[in-house]
Amino acid sequence: MAEALCGASFRGPAFLYLKPKTLDEAVSLLALPGGQILAGGTDFYPALGERLPLGRVVDITALSEIRGISTESEHVRIGGLTTWSEVIRASLPRGFDALKAAAREIGSLQIQNRGTVAGNLCNASPAADGVPPLLALDAEVELASVAGRRRLPLTQFLAGNRKTVRHADEILSAVLVPRRMEHAASAFLKLGARRYLVISISVVAAVLQADDAGRVAEVHLAVGSCSATAQRLHELENDLGGLPAEPGIGASVRAEHLRSLSPIDDVRATADYRRDASLTLVQRALEACVGSH
Ligand SMILES: Cc1cc2nc3c(=O)[nH]c(=O)nc-3n(C[C@H](O)[C@H](O)[C@H](O)COP(=O)(O)OP(=O)(O)OC[C@H]3O[C@@H](n4cnc5c(N)ncnc54)[C@H](O)[C@@H]3O)c2cc1C
Repeated sequence: MAEALCGASFRGPAFLYLKPKTLDEAVSLLALPGGQILAGGTDFYPALGERLPLGRVVDITALSEIRGISTESEHVRIGGLTTWSEVIRASLPRGFDALKAAAREIGSLQIQNRGTVAGNLCNASPAADGVPPLLALDAEVELASVAGRRRLPLTQFLAGNRKTVRHADEILSAVLVPRRMEHAASAFLKLGARRYLVISISVVAAVLQADDAGRVAEVHLAVGSCSATAQRLHELENDLGGLPAEPGIGASVRAEHLRSLSPIDDVRATADYRRDASLTLVQRALEACVGSH
């Protein structure tokens, strides 16, 4: 049975706090309108500011069945409740180095201990550091509801600034990463206004698979913080195919390759600075993948 607790402020309306113990119980609670999901709370509570939550809060942190990382025949399954600290500690092939590097850059140790991969994706901030490495790995998300489970590519799940196509009654139960590129080289680079505990100005992830002749067989590049949702650079990925996977590869990246980005001016950086910085980060991420940094 879910634990329930009623709360009310002196001036505000009541809310109901529910803590289901199984995924079935959680999706049943969310099938009723007005439920809000609470995981690590590291985006949920800051978004409330001084306000109390309204309606029914469904705390999913007891759902151990969607926590942890496992390797299946086709995918690495990252359970929706997996924290960033668990990603860092997991034994994963080097294609996941970029995701682990992102996890180490998310907030502080305390945030990494509470914050979940699914929370980062569902919050859908343009600056979410977990998104570019997962886009570069061609990740899919699995959504669970009383109607069953559905899967869709992360690119389709993210629909804009703080928008996803998740239905209100769905829990992101897992991120599924295809194993096809698991042994590729990967890199993650984040630029902020200071070294730690910072919202990204630009963030880049690269996954590069070389063939036996030492040429680029396949490369995936994703840039975050420079458009409403992080973007893959498909034109650049195509242009890099077949080039020698060796130091100097970054010189093949031109400003035009980043034209799909639409950075904004804000308190952290100007749009022009973001474009320049992203170009440099993409070049450096490629160099890191071929071992020259
Ligand atoms: C001090 C601080 C520093 C931070 N630094 C960074 C940073 O450097 N980089 C970065 O990317 N982020 C950062 N964050 C943001 C945050 O820590 C991450 O986005 C984290 O991964 C969110 O996970 P959570 O479990 O805490 O999500 P929650 O806050 O619990 O939830 C976030 C949103 O997702 C929904 N949700 C959560 N889990 C699910 C699920 N399984 N299914 C469906 N919906 C769900 C919730 O309803 C809510 O809308 C920072 C936050 C703080 C407070």
